Amino acid sequence: MDKAAVLNSISEKIANCRRCNLWKETTHSVPGEGNPSSKVVFIGEGPGYNEDKLGRPFVGRAGKLLDKVLLSIGILREDVFITNIIKHRPPENRDPESGEITACKIWLDQQLEVIKPKVIITLGRYSLERYIPKAKITNMHGRPTLVKSQVVIPMYHPAAALRSTVILESFKQDFQRNSEILKYPEKVKTDELKEEDSDQISLF
Ligand code: URA
Repeated sequence: MDKAAVLNSISEKIANCRRCNLWKETTHSVPGEGNPSSKVVFIGEGPGYNEDKLGRPFVGRAGKLLDKVLLSIGILREDVFITNIIKHRPPENRDPESGEITACKIWLDQQLEVIKPKVIITLGRYSLERYIPKAKITNMHGRPTLVKSQVVIPMYHPAAALRSTVILESFKQDFQRNSEILKYPEKVKTDELKEEDSDQISLF
């Protein structure tokens, strides 16, 4: 399968998506970008001002921090795939509404079906909720977890790390601690990971 071509066609559908009203106030859709063959996918919340202007994920201050922390463990952002739960920017960067998350879900589902990552990094609350709805990020950050055979590593959102030096330290440490998995995701030993409690997990 030509993964890049399939992802491009999904991006085109996202650009024309009218499944919720968010598109109305946006400049660009932000489908996500990166290496279609990456074994690691990062999932953030949704585009902000800069992302909407450029049509690219994580290009503002939070994105610069993400790039820097990735580089500190020897990973370039173009090595991995970076996307969001929501593909159009909510007005004034408000939190996405549950109807918008539900409407947008098919796009991330399709992208992940094509990429088939070994490891998913959730950045912040909304992407963690996709996998483990009742999880608290403060309890789970940095801890690789199995969710129905999918390795998920919940991480703080880089924007949260920019607001708190304590969270920034944890954010950096979580990347350091998981650097082997992030660099060599195909080597991850799933049988050594704890399966998340079944009543905590979602159907994705
Ligand atoms: N925050 C996100 O969650 N995603 C982006 O793409 C940018 C900022």
